[in-house]
Amino acid sequence: MQAFTLETPPDARSAISAAYRARAKYIAGGTDLLQLAKDDIETPTRLVDLEPLGMAGIRASADGLHLEPLARMSDVAAHPDVVRDWPVLSQALLASASPQIRNMATIGGNLLQRTRCGYFRDTGFACNKRVPGSGCPAINGENRMHAILGGSEHCIATNSGDMAVAMTVLDAQLTLTGADGTRKVAIGDFHRLPGDTPDIETVLRPGEMITGIDLPASAMARRSHYLKVRDRASFEFAVVSAAVALDIDSGTIRTARVAAGGVGTKPWRLPEVEAALTGKPADAASLKAAAEQSGAGAKPARMNGFKLVLLRRSVLRALQTVVA
Ligand SMILES: Cc1cc2nc3c(=O)[nH]c(=O)nc-3n(C[C@H](O)[C@H](O)[C@H](O)COP(=O)(O)OP(=O)(O)OC[C@H]3O[C@@H](n4cnc5c(N)ncnc54)[C@H](O)[C@@H]3O)c2cc1C
Ligand code: SF4
Repeated sequence: MQAFTLETPPDARSAISAAYRARAKYIAGGTDLLQLAKDDIETPTRLVDLEPLGMAGIRASADGLHLEPLARMSDVAAHPDVVRDWPVLSQALLASASPQIRNMATIGGNLLQRTRCGYFRDTGFACNKRVPGSGCPAINGENRMHAILGGSEHCIATNSGDMAVAMTVLDAQLTLTGADGTRKVAIGDFHRLPGDTPDIETVLRPGEMITGIDLPASAMARRSHYLKVRDRASFEFAVVSAAVALDIDSGTIRTARVAAGGVGTKPWRLPEVEAALTGKPADAASLKAAAEQSGAGAKPARMNGFKLVLLRRSVLRALQTVVA
């Protein structure tokens, strides 16, 4: 493990300035970054500790939910307003990792967790994401857990997070603060497709920090659900997951948001399903027909063609749960 110096700035402004000047990395709960450092997958020489900043607030109002970046996954999941008004978010968090990790991990860090591709996590293998230009052994190798949507000839690793999938159907807006000021980025624009630079995973600029996450309140958010299919129930990353949120008025679906995890190189919104649901009666036939649209443009690899079938079934089950 590479030795590093740890800076503990007193406030967010000094933390951003320290990270920008020294090209340092932030550390929050450390549940992903420290594992990567121990395995020499990431080798930071300077870390900026976010823990002393506080910034762990969870505030719900009639307009929406505001989360500060150091809020713990477990605290957000258990917050009574989140459970009632943004159930998909609570459910996605509770389906993530283990209770011990959720008690330590933060929502800012969760959005920036690295992929679980086994080749990426083992320095004995080539990997374009870890060492640009070295190759992608997953494309012709062990790729059961890899993406069927959004991949490139350079990388087919899935984004492994659950919470970001839920936030996609909740139209979350991230506040990013850097040396040049603050900007807002929609969750759907935060993660990048791999293209020919799979090592660049988000639109974060050097030194930029996630300083807030806002989720609007809506009838759709209240009628939402997260379904996760995984290889074991205790804790495991998604093989496939589905997040849905529906606004239903007098039996007709007015607005729909549908997204999937475990299938895309980023949290994957399914506009084809949303379009098939909008304006339709919330009945069994409409839900089935819409779910069948899931995964338009999918390009399965040798070992993961089953994910397309599983995606359609998972979307259907999630829709049925929300409508019931
Ligand atoms: C055994 C295990 C099982 C897991 N299972 C799941 C699962 O099923 N589903 C799931 O979604 N996740 C799962 N995870 C991942 C887990 O959710 C993440 O490790 C955790 O959310 C990371 O949060 P953290 O605060 O510990 O981040 P850290 O490890 O501290 O940081 C992660 C990254 O985020 C950056 N960062 C942190 N905060 C900020 C900020 N505010 N602004 C800018 N950059 C920041 C850091 O620089 C670093 O690059 C699992 C992890 C483990 C170890
Ligand atoms: S899929 Fe991506 S992360 Fe995995 S080996 Fe290929 S380049 Fe690396």
